[in-house]
Amino acid sequence: MKEFSLIDTYFKSVKYKRKDVLIGIGDDCAITQIPPGQALATTTDTLVSGVHFLADAPPRAIAQKAIAVNLSDLAAMGAEPAWISLSLTLPAIDETWLEEFSRGIQESTEYYSIELIGGDTVQGPLAITITAQGFVAPEQALTRSGAKPGDFLYVTGTLGDAGLGLDLLLNNIELPDPEHSGFLLKRLYYPTPRVFAGTSLRRVANACIDISDGLVADLKHILHASQCGAMLQLDKLPLSEAMVQSVDIHNAYRYALSGGDDYELLFSVSEEHKNSVDRALACCNVPVTCIGQLNGMSGKVNLRLHNQPYDFIDTGYEHFAPSSLLATTKDPQ
Ligand code: ADP
Ligand code: MG
Repeated sequence: MKEFSLIDTYFKSVKYKRKDVLIGIGDDCAITQIPPGQALATTTDTLVSGVHFLADAPPRAIAQKAIAVNLSDLAAMGAEPAWISLSLTLPAIDETWLEEFSRGIQESTEYYSIELIGGDTVQGPLAITITAQGFVAPEQALTRSGAKPGDFLYVTGTLGDAGLGLDLLLNNIELPDPEHSGFLLKRLYYPTPRVFAGTSLRRVANACIDISDGLVADLKHILHASQCGAMLQLDKLPLSEAMVQSVDIHNAYRYALSGGDDYELLFSVSEEHKNSVDRALACCNVPVTCIGQLNGMSGKVNLRLHNQPYDFIDTGYEHFAPSSLLATTKDPQ
């Protein structure tokens, strides 16, 4: 199979089409129309085999996760997703793999009403780059820098599940109840970008970020951008049943504070808008939990458990750290 028939078979055939795409896959560029009054939000994320996923991960999951992590960035900005582009680096043409991968794209584009408008296909070590674009009125964009001392901190969903799922996949832990493995691996392979929650928070949140590298690490981005400090109440952290029943509570806190790949939204809300949070997110089908408050102690995260100080060494995910490759963290046994 040649490059062009590959593009036609697996990517041009992706069915979901939008009226605002004037020219899609097939020409030198895509031509798209932005609605009046809206600005364009653009984000890119790359998933590399052996770094972000194991080489034998299901291709449908790889496709859907590559899209999800980008939609999560749009959500964190309060933007409504519209278009994606796909830059695919493949070691070889494996039609079974491509079929499953393309099915993953098909499903996600339909589910989120977004169109695949273009991309690039080259040979090399397996890597997937997605660029996602969406709309938000410029004055309504949720930035990292809008938080104020006194704001309350909230998160969507539950924290740490994907980190625990990864340890399960790498055989680093054994679950007392194997029934939970399905849920945890689903949280790792098929994260849910909080798209609707992001757009619903436009008039409610002062600042927002998505949690990709761990709660504390990503909270620090808000703190640095907004020149605030934070107090987090560990006893308030939302933990799944699978988490609570699989590890002791201190390990559960560790996963929740520093496990990566959660793709939940972390946002700050002023006292004045606190009462609007539940109403704004009522239709989003995701729980939301107040986990702490911001203060003026620039950059500092103060952890408390039942109102007592709690010691924790932050180990959020970092690229170029010695253990950042999946292959090197894999348990040899
Ligand atoms: P060019 O050489 O002009 O960059 P290409 O041959 O790379 O064009 O691509 C032909 C068309 O197919 C373009 O519209 C491009 O956006 C699209 N395309 C290429 N690869 C992909 C892909 N992996 N996913 C979606 N569209 C793709
Ligand atoms: Mg090209």
